[in-house]
Amino acid sequence: MNQQHTTAVGETPGREPLSFLNPSAPEPWASFIEQIDRVAPHLGNLAGWLETLKHPKRILIVDVPVHRDDGSVAHYEGYRVQHNLSRGPGKGGVRFHPAVTLNEVMALSGWMTIKNAALNLPYGGAKGGIRLDPRTHSRGELQRITRRYTSEIGFIIGPDKDIPAPDVGTNEQTMAWMMDTYSMNIGSTATGVVTGKPISLGGSLGRHEATGRGVFIAAREAGQRSNVPIVGARVVIQGFGNVGGIAARMFHDAGAKVIAVQDHSATIANEAGIDIPAALAHAQAHGGLKDFPGATDISVSDFWSLPSDYLIPAALEGQILPERARTLKTRIVVEGANGPTTPAADDILRERGILVVPDVLANAGGVTVSYFEWVQDFSNFFWSEEEINSRLERIMVGAFEAIWKLAEERQVSLRTATFIIACQRVLAAREQRGLYP
Ligand code: NAD
Repeated sequence: MNQQHTTAVGETPGREPLSFLNPSAPEPWASFIEQIDRVAPHLGNLAGWLETLKHPKRILIVDVPVHRDDGSVAHYEGYRVQHNLSRGPGKGGVRFHPAVTLNEVMALSGWMTIKNAALNLPYGGAKGGIRLDPRTHSRGELQRITRRYTSEIGFIIGPDKDIPAPDVGTNEQTMAWMMDTYSMNIGSTATGVVTGKPISLGGSLGRHEATGRGVFIAAREAGQRSNVPIVGARVVIQGFGNVGGIAARMFHDAGAKVIAVQDHSATIANEAGIDIPAALAHAQAHGGLKDFPGATDISVSDFWSLPSDYLIPAALEGQILPERARTLKTRIVVEGANGPTTPAADDILRERGILVVPDVLANAGGVTVSYFEWVQDFSNFFWSEEEINSRLERIMVGAFEAIWKLAEERQVSLRTATFIIACQRVLAAREQRGLYP
């Protein structure tokens, strides 16, 4: 696998040939721009500021040279994009994945701007990533890569500048290394520089489950308004990591039947409902769902055409394209992943009467509890898990209600309604601050 592929600065970064995603998917940044354009007619005079959101404030590309275990030196390309800082410091995850490109990180940073503003969190939007496959690297190599990357982006991150968090391929341990490296470089312990840390280092109770919990809350709210009860519902989930795995457990515990799950290693189904705790234990022990005994393997095309009540894409972007949108047999799509549905596919789902709860609302539980973690780190006063979960519930339900109401008033999709609320907040801040100098 070529880890050293580079994208020349100034070129439009292309999707990697090694990407297993559908190569006909539009570039994620193009999808983001189209989503922004769709909001313009709803913004009144603020639309005059919309160009702001088409221009990331700051893009940093870094070389990450690291000794591999065999003594060779490998170079990895890393990114940190601060899309918009009008409402506060940057906030967004760090992705380790072989298909990471600048284009993808730009789009993910833009979605963070929208998500943070839609939930009214006092943050701008940012995102980072390194193009590598963490599964083919040892723990020692990952630690060296993480530390060098953190040092390289160190001058633009900080508790009041930009606060990274976990995303695909990164976890609490990655955040611990980032926090330690940043702290060593500045000479004092700065717990608030990242969120999603281990509890012992200033992490928050409930953070690990927060994104999956938020996906479940969003699904429940959508189901209540669309007459699709959770109890007995047929649920299909793509991605069985932090987001998909926790969401699966919450649906399972609430009495739904998770009938099919897909991860990077297998696509499995069981019409009677998969035993999710057993599947989670298997994935934990074996690094994926492959060979899980409690279900049968099905083809990818069968997976996408299974009749279901809820479909939860919780892996990567570019999964629901027009072709799949025409044939999906589900009632509600709840986007756990960022950017799983392209704008053209969105339109088809809407025409077909399939409700889509967009990523920028559905998966916002993670950044919401990251915000709680950051506040706790600043105040050095830590909350109980009940307090965190009840505050998360209140914020998610409040945002859902406001977005649902606006979507009905303006007769637009939930995605457009979320973008309207978010863009109004970001662009009003932009206008009030004025341009420097
Ligand atoms: P993760 O690394 O914990 O899990 C990713 C899952 O996707 C794994 O089960 C993996 O096997 C699966 N996967 C990877 N490639 C796949 C493929 N081609 N087909 C099917 N499955 C595949 O990552 P995560 O944190 O769960 O993130 C998943 C999505 O949720 C991403 O889009 C991420 O940006 C988004 N998200 C994550 C958080 C968070 O707090 N972790 C917050 C908001 C949004």
